[in-house]
This record gives sequence, C-alpha cells and structure tokens, in this order.
Amino acid sequence: MQYSDLSHWAARAGKWAAGYYSGLRDRPVRSKLDPGEFLRQIPLAAPEEPEPMERLFADFETMIPDAMTHWQHPRFFAYFPANAAPASILAEQLISSLACNCMLWQTSPAGTELEIRMLEWFREAVALPPGFSGLIHDSATTSTLCAVLTMRERALQWQGLAEGLSGSPRLRIYASEENHSSIDKAARLSGIGQSNLVKIATDESLAMHPAALRKAIEEDLAAGLTPAGVVVCVGGTANGAFDKVRETIEMAKEFDLYCHADAAWAGSAMLCPEFRWLWDGIENADSIVINPNKWAGVQMDCSIQFLAEPDQQASTVGMRPEYLKTHGKGGMVDFNELTIPLGRRFRALKLWFVFRAYGLAGLREMFRNHVKWIRAAELKLGAEPDIEIVTSSPLALFSFRLAPAGGDADRLTELLLQRINDDGRIYLTPSAHRGRNAIRMTAGTFSCTEEDVMSACQVIREMASSLTGAVKPSPASR
Ligand SMILES: *Cc1c(COP(=O)(O)O)cnc(C)c1O
Repeated sequence: MQYSDLSHWAARAGKWAAGYYSGLRDRPVRSKLDPGEFLRQIPLAAPEEPEPMERLFADFETMIPDAMTHWQHPRFFAYFPANAAPASILAEQLISSLACNCMLWQTSPAGTELEIRMLEWFREAVALPPGFSGLIHDSATTSTLCAVLTMRERALQWQGLAEGLSGSPRLRIYASEENHSSIDKAARLSGIGQSNLVKIATDESLAMHPAALRKAIEEDLAAGLTPAGVVVCVGGTANGAFDKVRETIEMAKEFDLYCHADAAWAGSAMLCPEFRWLWDGIENADSIVINPNKWAGVQMDCSIQFLAEPDQQASTVGMRPEYLKTHGKGGMVDFNELTIPLGRRFRALKLWFVFRAYGLAGLREMFRNHVKWIRAAELKLGAEPDIEIVTSSPLALFSFRLAPAGGDADRLTELLLQRINDDGRIYLTPSAHRGRNAIRMTAGTFSCTEEDVMSACQVIREMASSLTGAVKPSPASR
C-alpha cells in the first residue's frame, strides 16, 4: 500500500466504522471467544511477500470484530468505559495521519501549544484555580507514578535521583483502601515499596478516616520513618469512593506532605457544578489526575495531570541531554520534561475536537444523564426482593448482589454475573466489598441511552429469577 492509496482505504475504513457503530447494539458486548481460539487463526510467521490490501481488509472485517469486546457498545456497563465520541475518533484518525512526535515544542509547535490551551480549557471547565497547569500523559498510571516519584524526591531533597535509595530514610506514603492498584504499582516502581504504602481504613461513606490518617503519620514519625505524601481518592474504581478532600489535604499539609488526587474517573464529571462538592478543597492538592479517556468522550489515550508546581515534577522526571536543549522560542515548555517517555503523541487534538464538537453543555448533559440513569437503575434493582445494593456512589456507579432468603449470596452473585455476561446483551464486572461478592454497574459510553440502562435492569432481573427460581420452590414472583 502506498500513500496514494490512503484516500481509498481511509474512506473504506470510515465506511466500515459507520456501519460498525450503527450495528453495535446487535452484537454481544463481550467477545464469545475461548482463549486461544483467535490465535489459532493467525499464521505463525510474517508473510515474506506483500499481500493485497483487499485481502487484508477482508480479514480484518471477518476476523477482528467478533474477537473483540465492544467497549463502545451502548450496553457496556463494566469497568469504567473508555468512551469515544465520534469527534474524538475523527481526531484520532487525523493524529494518525500526521504521525508526529510532540516531545519538544520544536518537534510540533501546535502539539505543545494546543496542549497548553486545552489544559487551560479543561482547568477552567472543572473550576480549578489558575495556579494549576499541566500536561497530558498516556494513562493515570503514568500520572500517578510521576506524582509518587515527585513525593519521593521532595522528601529526599532530590538526592534519590543521583544517589539511589539504598542509603536513604524509609519513606511512607498513605492512601485509602479504596484507591486504585496504580497507587500500589507506583509505590513498588518508585522504590518506596509496597510495605511503605500505608492503606488507611475507610468509614461508612467509604472515605478515609482523617483521624486514622493522622494517627498513621504520627506513629510513623515516632518510629523514625519519613512520611512523603498522600494519595487522595476522588472517585475510587471499585466503589466510586470519595475521601474528604479538604480535611485530608489540610491534615497532610500540616505534616508538609505532597498530595496527589486520583480523580481518573470522577474528575471529568466536575464539568458539572453540582458534583463539585465531591472534591471540595481540591485546590489545595499538589497534583491531580483526570482521565478524559474514561468519561469525557476523548478516547484512549488521554490522561490529564494538573500540577500546582510543575517545576518539582520536572526536577524529578525531566532530563536534558545536549540534543534536547532546544528550548522553545519564548520559553515554551517541552512537555517531555514532565513525564516518563520522551516521545509524545498529539493527544491535545482529541480534546480540541471533543470540546468544540459538543461544547461544555453537551458534555455536561452526558455526565448528568449517565448519573441520573444509573441512580434510577439502582433504585429499580434495589426494590427487587432478592437484590441487595452493596455500595452506592454519588456518581454513575453502584454495586449489588443477589441475596435471596436462604440462598448462598456469594455463590449466587457469582453465578448471576456469569449468566449475565454469557448472555451478551449487557456487560458487568465483579467486585467485592468487605468480604462479600458483588456485581458492579456503571454507565459511561457515549451512545448509551436511558433505554439501554433500563433494559439492563430487565436483563439482570430475568437472569436473577432464573437463579432464584432454583433456590426457592415457590413460583417466581416476577
Ligand atoms: C482507571 C483508573 C486508574 C488507572 O487508569 P489508567 O489510565 O488505565 O492507568 C487509576 N485510578 C482510577 C481511580 C481509575 O479509575
């Protein structure tokens, strides 16, 4: 295939994409394949000679979609959807056409300058104060690793980078037990160590106990350890938990700790003023991660990190070998100095397209709808005699379990999830809360409608009664 063939094949791909989206509802959400089934269809080695594009494209059409789990399916209620608005899909096509590396200002001026402005748009849209600037990473895992590395170096007065950690004091970082595993990963990779990530218990509202946090910090200080930072949970992955952001950060600051807020999922919803109470006090954080690639219609990859003092992170992860000393005209930032990889994709273009194609009003309407419909689904399912709501988040997430009188709820819940996902009309994920099995439901795909959410309740009800019918001899009540 040559560049001159692009227009033909890009048009074919665009046509395919439109057909794919219009037919998504008819597909099972989760792939029906067994492990290895797809692998067996792929030859063991690369072809020696070029193959015609026609054949390649035909193989794509017949082999790939059926072997996928459809993340943009309107009835994908699992994990956190990685939603992709059509304008983002188009932007991603254009990014792939430019195929550029935005590592320095000089290597793609629009890449850097659009990123600067998009960060300002986003900051303004979620009402963070002007002191915050930031950048776009590939993932929240990278954003959080950068923040934890900065915590480490700040606590070591930037000695760890040159000297290594072997002779340094034992650092401690703190996070609620509701935090995402990327915090554990950052503790491990940063050399701080899993055992020095102190998990603080949460209360009934799933928030970390500020008093328990204080106690842990004071005990560590008394034991001669060195507290370095706190990761604040702003919308946990398992249960949508929120720490008491203001109280937690204020306390951490008493001990001069660096505060990183993980708002990977919930942060996008802060476009809506009515949700902002959930992160009241966020302006005191040092670092905040928000993934527009989860909920804001900007497809993977696009993870925003806001920083109160970017210099601290640049001093930690920035490198300036001779060949990179090409500082942008007018002192433009070279964004690679704030992140781990050198090469950077042109991710800002997706934000630009999504903001402009839907407007803040369009995005707010999407968040509000998802939250409203999921709240309604929770009420509806909670009213079922055999279904128990296990956790509830103020945003678009809850978990439930099947707990009929006299039944083994853990086992039945597991079976229910299996039946639901094998059925294929909807897709949900397992969770566990305080030792009890649960099923987690969230909404977030761009094409999801109220009807999709309500039909999910119907599927759950249907599958649940097929199971409870076996538990109880009396005829199913529905
Ligand atoms: C999904 C998620 C992450 C990890 O995001 P990646 O971008 O996949 O690394 C971290 N924190 C929270 C709260 C999440 O929901």
